[in-house]
Amino acid sequence: MSDARPSSGSLFMVVAPSGAGKSTLVNALLAQEPAIKLSISFTTRQPRPLEQHGREYYFTTVDDFLKRREAGEFLESAEVHGNYYGTSRLLIEEQMKAGTDVLLEIDWQGAQQVKKRFPHAVGIFILPPSIAALEERLKKRGQDDDHVITRRILAAGGEIAHAPEFEYVIINQEFATALSELTAIVKATRCRFAQQAARNASLFAQLGIHAIIS
Ligand code: 5GP
Repeated sequence: MSDARPSSGSLFMVVAPSGAGKSTLVNALLAQEPAIKLSISFTTRQPRPLEQHGREYYFTTVDDFLKRREAGEFLESAEVHGNYYGTSRLLIEEQMKAGTDVLLEIDWQGAQQVKKRFPHAVGIFILPPSIAALEERLKKRGQDDDHVITRRILAAGGEIAHAPEFEYVIINQEFATALSELTAIVKATRCRFAQQAARNASLFAQLGIHAIIS
């Protein structure tokens, strides 16, 4: 079922292969745009040294994850690099209803599922400037074991092959440029007719603008 009701909130999905610099870009965006709410996913992956439960992820067991999935708790879920990841359905639906802008950091499989439920969700794919740069970033980050890094490098080509499914593509060569492009996408989305009409309903009525929003 798709949700085409007008809402002043926008749903952003940022997708990238590991090592493209997605989280750094997203964190910088959120520092500039604190009104955007970052969705905290559930995962069965082990926490990295500096990660905290409830901040980067809700870390859980495979058993608990599968029970939640079975109970329909996830808006989308996928197996990525051998672990399960999922987005809480309730949280997203509540925030969408409240007109809050929400950002999902998910993989391409999750993005496909979200699009079915929210066709107006905005898909943004972050590309590295080269495969060499991606490998270098993954190794420099130093937060994953060697076999995990190798697995992620091998998966990158398959993930990048899904870039054409996204409305927007950002090449993360120069951080400041990539961040300004991401910010521009957010600002442009907020100016979409449906979002403006929902946010400024009384002004639109006063101005006699009566449009059918699909
Ligand atoms: P990481 O283990 O590096 O935090 O994330 C691995 C991959 O899983 C990344 O591509 C990340 O975007 C994706 N991911 C994180 N949370 C979710 C989620 O809730 N759903 C889906 N489908 N992918 C996720």
